Amino acid sequence: MLILLAGGAGYIGSHTAVELMAAGHDVVIVDNYSNSSPEVIKRIEELAGRSVTACEADVRDSSAMRLIMKANPVDCVVHFAGLKAVGESMRKPVEYYRNNIDTTLTLLECMKECGVHNFVFSSSATVYGEENPYPYVETMPRGSCSNPYGWTKFMMEQILEDASRADPELSVILLRYFNPIGAHPSGRMGEDPQGIPNNLMPYVAQVAVGRRDHLTIFGNDYPTPDGTCRRDYIHVMDLAAGHVKAVEYAATRKGTDIFNLGTGTPCSVLDIVRAFEKNSGVPIKYEFGPRREGDLPEFWANADKARTVLGWTAARTLDDMCRDTWNWQRNNPKGYAS
Ligand code: NAD
Ligand code: UDP
Repeated sequence: MLILLAGGAGYIGSHTAVELMAAGHDVVIVDNYSNSSPEVIKRIEELAGRSVTACEADVRDSSAMRLIMKANPVDCVVHFAGLKAVGESMRKPVEYYRNNIDTTLTLLECMKECGVHNFVFSSSATVYGEENPYPYVETMPRGSCSNPYGWTKFMMEQILEDASRADPELSVILLRYFNPIGAHPSGRMGEDPQGIPNNLMPYVAQVAVGRRDHLTIFGNDYPTPDGTCRRDYIHVMDLAAGHVKAVEYAATRKGTDIFNLGTGTPCSVLDIVRAFEKNSGVPIKYEFGPRREGDLPEFWANADKARTVLGWTAARTLDDMCRDTWNWQRNNPKGYAS
């Protein structure tokens, strides 16, 4: 199949591109490089061993998207193209709503015009909100989100469900990611945040490589086994493999279906620090600080549905996640600019 990856030069999109190509599919990547760089395309081609069609465009630009879809007989769209920093979304809510919602609407409109019927969406565990008990199951209602980023995911899920209800041809798969970390095992591709990392694993990796002095752990008084927050960290290569299954499944059915992509096992912030130290051999300096606003004490996935319906499970361990992150970071201390 030919898969259009909107935002395919980003962290999750680039790993997914390599996995889709390894499974025999072809990809067209559309990205405006607002949070990535064209160097990523070269790395994808290097790892896949063949060339990729890459278009520099804003996914909100319907004339550009229409041209791209008319020029390429796309079977499925995977929509990664979003702004994703929770804190920034509180400061720039309008920008987040504009970018995230408009990209989704433009893709849906252009797909309809061009006869593309399969849509896989990058959603997030954040849509379960604060009300739901963990582990989260797909049958739970969406909850209330604590920030505009989360609300964009909530709204885009609703938009996509409504669109598929109204269009009997449309197949929508909502993938709710838990906490993606790790990198391609080659060390050639990984997460390359701009500026100070917001997320735990890239922050730890930058402390290890000497770009940051120390990690601040946000809170050690949570009602969890060691007092630090617990999350369901998943290797980005497992996540990428989940997209291959989802794209193939999307082509076999209609309507909306939802899948958690997580391991089903929680890890604390201190578990991550210790596992990273073990796998890198580098001590991670840290101190405890106050809780970060909006953080839930803990949550993780019930990943049964992806296993039974898609035939997918997360195969890689926390050691794999730390080893591959370190391999990427030490080989590319400044990310793709190294
Ligand atoms: P990323 O920022 O690395 O990738 C997103 C890509 O989209 C970037 O290359 C960026 O340049 C591009 N982009 C953004 N707006 C665009 C636009 N209007 N037109 C064209 N390109 C545009 O992020 P990621 O970590 O790969 O996340 C991918 C998706 O998964 C996002 O929608 C994100 O919200 C979602 N998600 C990520 C996580 C995570 O922890 N990384 C967790 C849950 C959900
Ligand atoms: N965290 C931390 N220090 C940091 C970044 C994150 O202690 O510099 C904690 C954060 O409080 C949360 C966990 O690490 O408990 C995972 O945070 P991240 O931002 O990576 O993912 P989230 O689950 O918030 O999307």
